[in-house]
Amino acid sequence: MDKLLSAVIPAFNEEAMVEKTAVTVAGVLRDAGIPYELIFVDDGSRDGTWEAILRAHEADKHVRGVSFSRNFGKDRAIFAGLSRAKGDCAAVLDCDLQHPPQVLPTMTALWEQGFELVEGVKRDRGEESGFHRLCAGAFYAVISKLAKLDMKRSSDFKLLDRKVVDTLLALPEEDVFFRGLTAFVGFKKTEVEFDVAERTAGQSKWSFRSLARYAVSSVTAFSAAPMQLAMIFGALFALIAVVTGILYAIVGYDASGWLVFLGVTALLALACVLLCLGVMGYYLGRLFRQSMGRPRYIIARECGE
Ligand code: UDP
Ligand code: MG
Repeated sequence: MDKLLSAVIPAFNEEAMVEKTAVTVAGVLRDAGIPYELIFVDDGSRDGTWEAILRAHEADKHVRGVSFSRNFGKDRAIFAGLSRAKGDCAAVLDCDLQHPPQVLPTMTALWEQGFELVEGVKRDRGEESGFHRLCAGAFYAVISKLAKLDMKRSSDFKLLDRKVVDTLLALPEEDVFFRGLTAFVGFKKTEVEFDVAERTAGQSKWSFRSLARYAVSSVTAFSAAPMQLAMIFGALFALIAVVTGILYAIVGYDASGWLVFLGVTALLALACVLLCLGVMGYYLGRLFRQSMGRPRYIIARECGE
């Protein structure tokens, strides 16, 4: 092949993995005869990730590096890598080799056949626990429905044509969600199944809290439906009020059980109002952040060209 492939690899506290990943990915691409560059994006790591990237760059000049001034999150790191990519196509993969680079030649072959977006789809979810699997299942069921995109089994392991890269980079939103946006932009796509490999070093950066935040942020990026919660709650409590009123009038005044029921209903209604206010506040926050026009990320250092 005479076309260049840019592999974009976000890395947060991956000092134990960077060099191994660089050697492995480069080895696979070299063996397959695919001209490549590797772009590591150090997402504000607190360990020696940047130094490891510099060492990988010394060992192989095809390795380039970008380092954020602080942690901005994986999706923004992916976008920073894509913005630096010079390739005719760009692959995105994790720094922990859980996205097997051995699949890259297959992805590249499909791209050469004319597919503009080759998506890695998980055959199984690797070492994740039952609880994690349940949460992920619920997350994708909700977001698939809200965003009207099929997000099940999807991953960030993808190969994008230059056209797709440029389209993604032209999107103006500050809070980017890579998986959702690749589904949003469309293009001619196909899938390649892969088995999630086990992480050999370092540890997963996802806590339950960060996953929950990710879920909320991705849903609200694609759907305004949660804002309509207020209407549903409003209708529900109006109905309760009417039915209660009618029953109360029929049953009479001395039934003190109704007072308790009314009190509980009123508290529940108040809770729903506050919940809806919170949801509105969340969207308003998004608007606010977008309106400030701050950059998606801040780059502190770069190496390689
Ligand atoms: N990552 C990142 N910024 C973050 C969290 C993670 O760039 O804030 C990178 C991480 O270094 C890895 C990839 O995203 O290359 C996937 O992260 P991880 O392995 O922790 O996620 P999991 O595989 O458990 O879903
Ligand atoms: Mg991982």
